[in-house]
Amino acid sequence: MRKPIIAGNWKMYKTLSEAVDFVQAVKSSIPAADRVDSVICAPALFLPSLVKEAEGSNLAIGAQTMHYENEGAFTGEISPSQLEDIDVQYVILGHSERRQYDNETDEKVNKKVHAAFAHNLIPIICVGETLEEREASNTVVKVSSQVGAALKGLSIEQIAQTVIAYEPIWAIGTGKTATAHDANEVCKEIRHTVEKIAGDVAAELIRIQYGGSVKPENVVELLLKEHIDGALVGGASLKPDSYLKLLEAGANAK
Ligand code: PGA
Repeated sequence: MRKPIIAGNWKMYKTLSEAVDFVQAVKSSIPAADRVDSVICAPALFLPSLVKEAEGSNLAIGAQTMHYENEGAFTGEISPSQLEDIDVQYVILGHSERRQYDNETDEKVNKKVHAAFAHNLIPIICVGETLEEREASNTVVKVSSQVGAALKGLSIEQIAQTVIAYEPIWAIGTGKTATAHDANEVCKEIRHTVEKIAGDVAAELIRIQYGGSVKPENVVELLLKEHIDGALVGGASLKPDSYLKLLEAGANAK
C-alpha cells in the first residue's frame, strides 16, 4: 500500500513572515505521519526558518529546485549539500516552469535526481505534456521519455523512493484539471514505464502524484484513482484552510 503524499508548491509567493505564519497556523493540525506525507515546498530564502518552525510536527519542508553540483562558481544557485545541511527533506525537480524558463533539460534533471539521493533528499520529479502534445496524442510518449531520462542510472531502491508528479502543462494554474480518469490513465502508463526500467516491485512502490489546478473540491476524486498517490498543488496550497483540507483528503484516501 502506497502512502499518499500531498505537497504544496508555493512557487514565488509569500514573504518570510507570511510563510512562518502559515506553518504556525497549520503545524498542530497536520495528519498523522503514517497516514499521509505532508510537504510544503517553499522559496529557498524561507527554508531554514520553515524547517525550524516545523520541527517536531508532521510537516516536511522541501525546496523547489537546486543545482546538481555541491559547490562552485554558480551565482544564484543552491546546492544539494546546502539543503541537506539545513534538514530540508524534499526537492521538486524538473517543474515545467523551470523546464520552460530556466532550461532545465532532461539531462540536468537526471543529474539533479542523482545529487538529491546523494544528499538524503527525496526528489519530486515533474513530468507532463503541452496542450499541442496532448492533442497530437503524444502524451504517453512525452511523459514516458521524461520519466526514463530522469531515472537513468538510479538503483531500484532509489527508484522505489522517488516521487513522480504528473502535471499536464495545460492544467497548471489554469483552473483546467485533467479528468480523474485521464490523469489516472497517464499515471498508470508512468507506472508501466517504471516497471520496464526497474521491475514490478519498484513500480508498485513508487508514488505518483497528479498536479495541475488541484483544489479541495477535486482532490478526493483524483486520490480515489488506483494510480494517483497524491497531489502537487500550487495555488490551493497557499492558504492554511485549503492546504489542511487537501491533507485531510490525503489522509483518508487509501
Ligand atoms: P497549480 O500548480 O495547482 O496552481 O495548478 C501546480 C504546480 O505547478 O505544481
